[in-house]
Amino acid sequence: MQDWTEIAAQISTSSGRLFNAEKVNVIGGGCINQAYCIANQEERYFVKLNQAASLPMFEAEAAGLQEISQSAALRVPIPLCWGKNDRVAWLVLEFIELGHTARSSAAELGAGLAAMHRVYAEQFGWVRNNTIGNTPQINTQKSDWVDFWRKLRLGYQLDLAKANGYNGKLQSLGAQTLSDLHLFFDNISPQPSLLHGDLWGGNYSYDDTGKPVLFDPAVYYGDREADLAMTELFGGFSNDFYSAYRHEYPIDSGYNVRKEIYNLYHVLNHLNLFGSGYRNQAEQMMNRLLTEIR
Ligand code: ADP
Repeated sequence: MQDWTEIAAQISTSSGRLFNAEKVNVIGGGCINQAYCIANQEERYFVKLNQAASLPMFEAEAAGLQEISQSAALRVPIPLCWGKNDRVAWLVLEFIELGHTARSSAAELGAGLAAMHRVYAEQFGWVRNNTIGNTPQINTQKSDWVDFWRKLRLGYQLDLAKANGYNGKLQSLGAQTLSDLHLFFDNISPQPSLLHGDLWGGNYSYDDTGKPVLFDPAVYYGDREADLAMTELFGGFSNDFYSAYRHEYPIDSGYNVRKEIYNLYHVLNHLNLFGSGYRNQAEQMMNRLLTEIR
């Protein structure tokens, strides 16, 4: 296919070694893009493909992977190049042989995430916007975390839900949650930590030495509790992971309430991406949150 010739040519230019896509294999498991392994005798690369308009999404993903890679806390695939033609956009990453667990792997993931969360920025947000799933994620930098979460995370998703026709109770509970948000942060001032941003069980694995690998991030700087909360939303993280994390970076007891504020963002995003099945869940979360402060 013509696209692979173009992608291989860009790989050759970026790596400085002539590369031909002799073998192209589909890789399953992704949610948003088509994923492939392309290889010749000597080298292989992981390639994501999507429609041409998705190039900014891939540019942001590459920047996010570079940001985590610079933290040196956890392994991520190194981006090599990205581009588009009339038909498709692509992102080429280092290929990592995934899925080998060693005894200490989960603990290493917990300790590595804690180290990543000790990488701080001056402000919340990031130097660029990105996406969460297919939804834009706005990262305008702010010094006030509650204001950031109110406007750019929950408020943004609630506005999107309104535009998608989800009105009534969802919106009245949403308005109340937004106006009461500061009450959940009475005794705590979160720091702008480097976050993965989309840390569910499908976005980490282990390399061929059992070392943890993160991929598919939605990077920004924010309260580390937001990353931790998402690990609990769909499960997939073990006790060893949590005890290693807590050992390196203890967690405030108020997290048990605040995690619902953080996961509400992802549940609202699921409502906007996948439809009304998530409406009840979002409303129940807001009801529980509002009960906490009454
Ligand atoms: P999507 O953006 O479509 O959600 P992912 O980034 O989650 O795609 O990748 C899909 C799957 O491909 C992952 O579940 C993982 O198993 C595998 N994968 C991701 N990155 C790499 C990589 N660099 N090398 C090898 N396999 C990878």
